Amino acid sequence: MKKVVKFGGSSLASADQFKKVGAIILEDENRRYVVPSAPGKRFSSDTKVTDMLYACYDTAVKGDDFSVQLENIKARYQEIIDGLALDCSLDEDFEIIRKNFQNKAGADYAASRGEFLNGKIMSSYLGFEFVDAAEVVRFNDDGSFNDEATNDLLSERLEGMQTAVVPGFYGAKADGTVVTFSRGGSDITGSLVALAARADLYENWTDVSGFLIADPRIVKNPKSIETITYKELRELSYMGASVLHEDAIFPVRKAGIPINIRNTNAPEDKGTLIVESTCRQPKYTITGIAGTDGFASITIEKAMMNSAIGFCRKVLQVFEDNGISIEHMPSGIDTMTIFVNKNAFEEKEQKILSDIQRAVQPDHIELESDLALIAVVGRGMKSTRGTAGRIFSALAHAHINVKMIDQGSSELNIIVGVKHEDFKDAIRALYEIFVLTQI
Ligand code: ASP
Repeated sequence: MKKVVKFGGSSLASADQFKKVGAIILEDENRRYVVPSAPGKRFSSDTKVTDMLYACYDTAVKGDDFSVQLENIKARYQEIIDGLALDCSLDEDFEIIRKNFQNKAGADYAASRGEFLNGKIMSSYLGFEFVDAAEVVRFNDDGSFNDEATNDLLSERLEGMQTAVVPGFYGAKADGTVVTFSRGGSDITGSLVALAARADLYENWTDVSGFLIADPRIVKNPKSIETITYKELRELSYMGASVLHEDAIFPVRKAGIPINIRNTNAPEDKGTLIVESTCRQPKYTITGIAGTDGFASITIEKAMMNSAIGFCRKVLQVFEDNGISIEHMPSGIDTMTIFVNKNAFEEKEQKILSDIQRAVQPDHIELESDLALIAVVGRGMKSTRGTAGRIFSALAHAHINVKMIDQGSSELNIIVGVKHEDFKDAIRALYEIFVLTQI
């Protein structure tokens, strides 16, 4: 059994957090390859080291004095080193970083030092070998990620290594220029290491006990999801639920390696297991509820629309030509409604309306803004009758008017549209009927 473990910034923000992480890793000898993020926030008003590095580099690029900013970053690491009583000095590293900042080595280089330095500390703390991600995570000359070269380099390097620390978030082009993934990208590195090491499990340690059935800012103490499939996860993330970087999924999914989201501050919790497929029945009919605010709808009405060939295509063409992405498209007999992102639409509203007018001469166009979409997602819905009925009755009991309903043909989700002011109450009502009152 081989496990790759990735720890997020809040799990590595201080020496105390490092100690928790060390205990987790050393408790299980299968946890062989470690991917650390940069130190995150120690308290809510704190600044992540990655953000400190970006700001410090900005100062350097302007030609201003960045020494105090760099000292503050060094102090963050020194606090960890002292707290762990490690015999390790980052003096030389900081001297190199200072010179490279002066020589304008690039914002990606600057940000990557957060993970690089944390990886060095982690390696010295655990006694695991340090592998600089710049040598094993490869980007092409145009800055795009090179998955094949990375997999070759990484698997070759890890092959003879019993244990290793590979810092997250960055890699390099063949000429050594450092490139980072987008923010939160250490999740991707963890996934790449899991693929290259042919791990049995990718554990992603963070500060929550996995995915929650609903947003804790809306529902009080929601239960967590024990097992979720990649498809369900995709549906929930599309609606705004996020714990994991989206691009982290592909490499492990392809290799059939499950991801386990775990909580560094509550290691006894099992967290959420993300799998391709499972015969484990979800505890409730639904796996999760997620929603997003900020949609607008455009309802187009025209008599005999149903028999007008090409009508939908012409309308969709207008949105395409205006560069607006369509989120949902429920239709009636003589009406079609298009859901779009409100902010994106607002900018081009009048142009789009006149384009539609010209393209299909509708009888009537009705606009509605401030809509929210809520997805009720679950592989268990397929085999359960009455899910839609329960959704409607829960919302009706909560005096919420349903503006739209859309059931994906996979029967994996039902999406309802409600007014912005009903958004939170709708999520609470759905949670109540599917989780609190269902055993
Ligand atoms: N440190 C980087 C960030 O703050 C990458 C990561 O934590 O995954 O985005």
